[in-house]
Amino acid sequence: MKALVKYGNNPNQLEIRDVPVPKIDADDVLLEVKAAGICGWDIEMWQHKMATSFNVSIIQGHEFCGVIKEIGKNIKDFKIGERVVSETAAVICGKCTQCLTGNYHLCPGRKGFGYGVDGAFADYVKVPGRCLHRIPEGVSFDHAALTEPACVAYQAIVVLSKIQAGKAVLIIGPGPIGLFSVQVAAACGAYPIMVAGTDKDIARLEKAKQLGSDFVINVSLENAVEFVKDQTGGEGVPLVVDAAGNEKSLRMALDAVSSGGQITKIGWGPKPVNFSLDTLLSKAARLQGTFSHNWPTWQAVLAMMSRGLIKIEPMISHRIALDKWEETFKLIEECHATKAIILFNR
Ligand SMILES: [Zn+2]
Ligand SMILES: [Zn+2]
Repeated sequence: MKALVKYGNNPNQLEIRDVPVPKIDADDVLLEVKAAGICGWDIEMWQHKMATSFNVSIIQGHEFCGVIKEIGKNIKDFKIGERVVSETAAVICGKCTQCLTGNYHLCPGRKGFGYGVDGAFADYVKVPGRCLHRIPEGVSFDHAALTEPACVAYQAIVVLSKIQAGKAVLIIGPGPIGLFSVQVAAACGAYPIMVAGTDKDIARLEKAKQLGSDFVINVSLENAVEFVKDQTGGEGVPLVVDAAGNEKSLRMALDAVSSGGQITKIGWGPKPVNFSLDTLLSKAARLQGTFSHNWPTWQAVLAMMSRGLIKIEPMISHRIALDKWEETFKLIEECHATKAIILFNR
C-alpha cells in the first residue's frame, strides 16, 4: 500500500513509500482509511521542528476515519464494513492510575498514531478496537476525519474550563483549534465571543465571524486588551483560551483575564516566556493546561457534529489525494489553508 512515511529525524525526511498492509492482532481492526486530516503537528514533524526524535520510519497521520476491513477475534461490538472514526491513543499501559480512572489520554506510556505508532496517511491502518467510535448517520467521512481537532477544543473548553452561557470569552489564535473553540463556545451560549489574531490571520478571522464569533480583533492594528475591557465594563473576561501558545499570547491572556477567571492554554510553544506570572496571583486567576481527550469527549463531539452544533464543512479548505501532500503541507505552513484532508480508497 502507499503511505506517507517520515524516515529520518531531520527536516524534509518525508516521502510516499510502498509498504506492507499492517497485520492485526486479536484486539485490533484493520481500517480501510477513507479520509485523514492534516494537522499542524504533521507540518512540524515534516520540518522536524521539535526537540524530540521519533522512532523512524513511521507513517504520519492521526486524524482519520474509515471502514472496518478485518476484525480481531476479541472484538465483539463492531462488524466488518462499519463506518468508524478513531481516537488517537494507539498505545496505553492499561494499568496506571490514569488508565484505570478513564484518563488514559494522560497515561505516561501513551503513544499516539502518526508519531508513536504508524498512523493513517496510508490506505490501511491497524487500530485497537477500544479506540473506535461509530460515525453517526448523516456525518460523512470527510467530516468525521476532523472529529479529533474538534475534541481538542471540547476538552479544553467544556471539560477543563467553566464555559458559561452569557459570559464573555476571548479566544487567541484563529487556527483550526481556535476556530473549533469558537464553535464549541457558541454552542454553549458564551457571549460575547471575541477572537484575536494577527495580520496573517485576516481570512481566518473572517471565518471566525461565520462560525459564531461576535467580535474579531486584529492585534496588528488594535490593542486586544483594551478591546476586551471595553466589552466587559473594564473587568476583563472570565475565560481566555490561548490557542496560539507563544509569549505574546500568554501575556495578552494574563492582561485580559478577569479577577478569579481562567486562562486555558491549548497552544504549545517551545520557547520560554520572559515575564513575571505575578498578575495571575494578584487576580487570583487560574492557568489550566489541556492535552488530548478521552471517550466521553468523543461521544459528545460526535453528537454535536450530528446535530450541526459543530460544523465541519466550513473548516475544510482543501481536499487532496495523497500524492499532492507536499504542496498542501506548504500551503498550511504559510497559513493559506484552514484544514486540508487527504482522501483515500474512493
Ligand atoms: Zn491533530
Ligand atoms: Zn496507563
